[in-house]
Amino acid sequence: MSETNFTADCSQCFGLCCTALSFERSNQFGHDKLGGEPCQYLQRDFRCRIHAQREALGYGGCEAFDCLGAGQRASAAFAGLNWQRDTGIARRLYARFSQLLLLQEMRQALETAATLDISPAQHAQRRELLARLSQEADGASRDVTDTALAVLGDGKSFLRSLAATLAD
Ligand code: SF4
Repeated sequence: MSETNFTADCSQCFGLCCTALSFERSNQFGHDKLGGEPCQYLQRDFRCRIHAQREALGYGGCEAFDCLGAGQRASAAFAGLNWQRDTGIARRLYARFSQLLLLQEMRQALETAATLDISPAQHAQRRELLARLSQEADGASRDVTDTALAVLGDGKSFLRSLAATLAD
């Protein structure tokens, strides 16, 4: 059972997935968009102008995307800062959002692994990684941190070791 709430709360987000991330015109997205550029359909209130018609208009990739709660975490950390006028602050916000996406994905993977038939030592390592991830993802940091990079690297190594264990 998940200990973390991974539900995205778009009402508490600055439309970060529609701004920070890039996409290319394809069968998933209707136009090209650079990272850091607001989507042409993003409104000033951070709502999507074509939300109800995204699939029909060729934006199925937006429907499928889930930030796992990274958006509201990054937005909360930058609330009150003038990121819309200061490109330097905006760059930090988008970078932090991108790192939070990775942190939330890793947390979800490690929480899902709670049901795996692995050794007590491996479960202890899993819990220790989750505690470190929680510190990184639930804190108020506004910057990409080396400690977050380190735990993401350790998490990847751990998941690779689990895959090897389970394949034996
Ligand atoms: S189409 Fe809507 S949901 Fe997709 S990126 Fe643009 S504003 Fe966001």
